[in-house]
Amino acid sequence: MEEDTITASFWRYSSGMRTKTLFLLWLLLPLFLCGQETEFDRWFTGGTLRLDCLREGSALKDTVWVERFIDRQAPWHGSRTQLLDPFDNGDYRVVVRDARTGRELYSRGYSNLFREYKDTPEGRTESKRFEETLLVPMPKGKVLIALQKRDKDLRLKDQAVIEYNGQINAKRLTLNTEHLTLNTKRLKRNIKHLPLNTKFDVAFVMQGFEGVSDSEYQQVCGRMTEVLFGKEPFKSHREDFNLYFVKGDAGVEYNTFGADRYAMTFRLWQLHDLLGTTPCDHIIIVLNNEKYGGGAIYNFYSVSSLHKMAESVLPHELGHGIGGLADEYVDEDLSYADLHRTQYEPLEPNITNLVDFQSKWQHLLPAGTPVPTPDVKVPRGENGPLGVYEGAGYSSKGVYRPAMRCMMRDYAPFCPVCRERLEAVIGLYIK
Ligand SMILES: [Zn+2]
Repeated sequence: MEEDTITASFWRYSSGMRTKTLFLLWLLLPLFLCGQETEFDRWFTGGTLRLDCLREGSALKDTVWVERFIDRQAPWHGSRTQLLDPFDNGDYRVVVRDARTGRELYSRGYSNLFREYKDTPEGRTESKRFEETLLVPMPKGKVLIALQKRDKDLRLKDQAVIEYNGQINAKRLTLNTEHLTLNTKRLKRNIKHLPLNTKFDVAFVMQGFEGVSDSEYQQVCGRMTEVLFGKEPFKSHREDFNLYFVKGDAGVEYNTFGADRYAMTFRLWQLHDLLGTTPCDHIIIVLNNEKYGGGAIYNFYSVSSLHKMAESVLPHELGHGIGGLADEYVDEDLSYADLHRTQYEPLEPNITNLVDFQSKWQHLLPAGTPVPTPDVKVPRGENGPLGVYEGAGYSSKGVYRPAMRCMMRDYAPFCPVCRERLEAVIGLYIK
């Protein structure tokens, strides 16, 4: 059997997968016995725990809880060495702590749709319920799982702490037998970069492709692969990625929060049921239509359509979804909440309000660069000189960006600041 076929079948059927996983574990057993136990092995089984959470409330008040713990019955796809999130980014964070000592074993920052809902007119007063799904390494012993959110000073505080002691509420509910349909040579090349723990695993969820011919479907998968790897820094990391394609309904609809082009899903549990055991350091939902639009939320998921601008739009969205980067453009209609004009630095690495510029890209700035930097004329498709240019994060005044042009502003290449962060984030998954 050729290697590609083995890789594809590995993920197709869970029973086969379990057998092969056991076989792999058996092969690796002597390593565990002879080698020193790693931090990861000390605390985690190597499996994946899925937390289906509910978050309910408005801007006035909100609560969050874990509705059910699910054994994803899949090997842990994230890093086994980069367990703690080094970035102070995202409005929320999940933290797994040793129940006895309180020591932090695993953490990841992220954002969600509720954060955006709070800023809508309805969300200021009307309470609404949102699904959220978190994946963490399966703990070996008793742990405390903290769901954190930012307080008004942007500090992360425990919002809910749940004890977990192996009480699984559900096994994986449905088995998705269809979730790899990769037959062309080109696509196969991208999925065989196992092992999972040192690759950035991207799960593409293909919505609206039922009834599409195989050849057309493969063509779209091929196009999305090239879109993903079309721009730096993703281009240079092609070999560091595993790609998976899953067909099904992720529940994405346009007109999210009344914005015509904003296409997102509220059905996170359905999305993760569909993913089943598919490894996913990041999820990209692809819509089978050519309408302009999409969206992305940091460490949550990204959405793209097949619009002719997808080659530019998707990398921009991945800037948000993977990098946690801010928009560098100005749009006074969106600066409703005066988000970035506060006494605190914005969380995103690529904008500053000069409250604490040291913590941002000063280390990259050439000596003698004036702060703020006067605008210069830069051709389309170039960044121009690094500086601190006014107009970013939707505001024309008081918020600054690193370059005249950038992917996060006008689809130019990612500026050095954005690129530095994306490199660092990718590094979190491939080491
Ligand atoms: Zn940038």
